[in-house]
Amino acid sequence: MTMSEFLPFTKPYIDEAAIAAVGDVLRSGWITSGPRMQEFERQLSAYFGGRPVRTFNSGTCTMEIALRIAGIGAGDEVITTPISWVATSNVILEVGATPVFADIDPVTRNIDLDKVEAAITPRTKAIIPVDLSGLPVDRDRLYDIAKRHKLRVVEDAAQAIGSLWQGKRIGSFGDFVSFSFQANKNLTTTEGGCLVLNNEDEARLAEKYRLQGVTRSGFDGMEVDVLGGKFNMTDVAAVIGLNQLAQLDTITARRHALARHYCATFGAGFEQQTGVQLPLANFENTNWHMFQIVLPQSVVRADFMAKMKARNIGCGVHYPPIHLFQLYRAHGFREGMFPIAESVGRRIVSLPLFPGMSEADVERVVAAVGEVLA
Ligand SMILES: *Cc1c(COP(=O)(O)O)cnc(C)c1O
Repeated sequence: MTMSEFLPFTKPYIDEAAIAAVGDVLRSGWITSGPRMQEFERQLSAYFGGRPVRTFNSGTCTMEIALRIAGIGAGDEVITTPISWVATSNVILEVGATPVFADIDPVTRNIDLDKVEAAITPRTKAIIPVDLSGLPVDRDRLYDIAKRHKLRVVEDAAQAIGSLWQGKRIGSFGDFVSFSFQANKNLTTTEGGCLVLNNEDEARLAEKYRLQGVTRSGFDGMEVDVLGGKFNMTDVAAVIGLNQLAQLDTITARRHALARHYCATFGAGFEQQTGVQLPLANFENTNWHMFQIVLPQSVVRADFMAKMKARNIGCGVHYPPIHLFQLYRAHGFREGMFPIAESVGRRIVSLPLFPGMSEADVERVVAAVGEVLA
């Protein structure tokens, strides 16, 4: 990439083999959910240590379905983070339950588990933690809290495929674990997602919620006993996922290398000199889904982004605090309730990070950040 070319904040990794595989499916005569979707589910299950896995047409619906399987609805409270894609809490509203936010930890930018524990009431039924940028929430502490208070967990691991906790893959242990395969995620199927479940009963129920509540038997048997929706993954999407899953370790390694190069190029003194907060330099657990910095109070983020854009560099905002959206204000949330999330949400910026980037691109971004902040 030359200096003059626009560098987006992310770009999907799609190779010729993926494109050819899509062509093969389109020519095969079977283009919706079928053998490739089943094969993708088998391979995902193997990847997650043999746990049951079902695929869907989004990450969002997997969380809604997990809540339904857990029997969570009206009158129940679900605790989550205000710093996430709004899907995380929209699914709580979707099933008729009440979202309860707990503020974040300023260093990890993930939900603060002390505040989760403080927010538990007799009506609390579940926790939805989010691994922002792929940096895992402390799973030992999380499941200790869940166990003591008898809560279900729906891990919003949308960004965390390939991340580890104590050497174990996220998704290979725990309660429900949800992943997204949306275009910007480390593994994409264009749109899509999967849910890791605890047992075959839950998996069967997930299949019903996925497709109109239908169960088929024999040649012509069909029954409907729950209200399901339309959330199935196509074989076209599944072959892209199969192609990506085979390369996931390589993709993650490339992200690690680029993130290391960012840290090294910014250098040890950068935070002190500029007041910018770099991401936690974690190379053990995270899949480096994003490289997010938090700007100093004195910098207006929109100005920073405009000046980066003028240098042909795209930035992202992940995320504005959910509780300050109109929909959530209408549920009683107000400015000042989650001050760390509000402060970080105003100042957080995602810098370009994707496998197709070069080390020179990283250097160009770091130089531009320095210029803009000078
Ligand atoms: C991408 C994402 C989702 C939603 O996934 P979709 O596949 O777009 O429905 C949910 N939560 C987080 C944290 C995400 O990054």
